[in-house]
Amino acid sequence: MRILRRYFSTALLAVSMLGSACAAGGGSTDRSGLALGTICSIRILAGGSEKALDEAFARLTAIEATMSANQSNTVVAQVNAEAGGQPVAIPEDLAYVTGKALWYAQLSGGAFDPTIGPVVKLWNIGMDGERIPSSDEIRETLPLVDYRAVAIDAKAGTLLLEHPGMQLDLGAIAKGYAADEVGRILVSRGVKAAVIDLGGNVKVVGRKPDGSSWRIGVQNPFDARGSYIGIATVEGDYTVVTSGVYERFFIGEDGTRYHHILDTRTGYPVDNGLVSATIISSSSVDADGLSTALFALGLRDGLALAETLDHVEAVFIDKDKRVYLSSGAGALFKLSDPDFSLAD
Ligand code: ADP
Ligand code: MG
Repeated sequence: MRILRRYFSTALLAVSMLGSACAAGGGSTDRSGLALGTICSIRILAGGSEKALDEAFARLTAIEATMSANQSNTVVAQVNAEAGGQPVAIPEDLAYVTGKALWYAQLSGGAFDPTIGPVVKLWNIGMDGERIPSSDEIRETLPLVDYRAVAIDAKAGTLLLEHPGMQLDLGAIAKGYAADEVGRILVSRGVKAAVIDLGGNVKVVGRKPDGSSWRIGVQNPFDARGSYIGIATVEGDYTVVTSGVYERFFIGEDGTRYHHILDTRTGYPVDNGLVSATIISSSSVDADGLSTALFALGLRDGLALAETLDHVEAVFIDKDKRVYLSSGAGALFKLSDPDFSLAD
């Protein structure tokens, strides 16, 4: 319940913020539903039809049925069950998303690692049975985390986790892919402008009917009730994706906050002074992978990596409410919450 409430508020942020666009542009079509473990909402501002929404939500359900690591009948669950055994035939979309995940694993030197599954399962953060694992459990489980032991055979269309006990977890990137897919479907069905919000993973497609820019809020990581610290103002297709300590967590008996992005070196939640990393870009699959990767890398290495990537801007927030921008982010993002200060 706690989790759902948080997801709701994140979704509402974008929807309510962009609501004015809807009023200006005339009739809009909205739909929300549960998929990929979160509230997904789509608002069409121009073009398209209910049919476009049907197709978009069907795609979300299909992606979940392929990629979820938290359900028993998915293709990812099959791949995990076969770890250390035989290659598993996988659909093209899963090969694509796994390939993207391995790319960000490589780019981040393993700070992002889609084989984090066994450690995620130890903690179960945000799920039934969330708990602090013993240090022994973590020590025994960590060697299973190794993206280099994932073998994709593109020609044969198969995937193998090379060692028994390994588990793929695409939770850090699948929602971004899903947002891209929804965008693609809507455009192919004649949608001219839409806002896609998959639990705070926001993508806008097309141009607003009234000609104004899109305005997308950047989540305040200290306030999960849907408040934002500032706004990204963008034209055309864009995505804003945040990874942070606020999305899924529990508070331990000692008051420590255990959040859901794990340090692949220690097996404990990332503890590097950051509370969130936001990516402003055009491809949501890349932004989702990167927001997690940059958060895990930390401010210095994360910023350095962002600077090497074209059309990728980053907004980092640390625990002292200082906000750090990549070199091109200032042109898109304006800080508005006076509690936060821009670092130079
Ligand atoms: P959200 O799901 O809130 O949008 P992220 O995109 O940052 O957040 O993904 C977090 C999820 O990714 C976790 O719930 C877990 O399933 C998985 N994960 C946790 N740590 C890592 C990591 N270091 N690398 C890759 N995936 C991770
Ligand atoms: Mg992510």
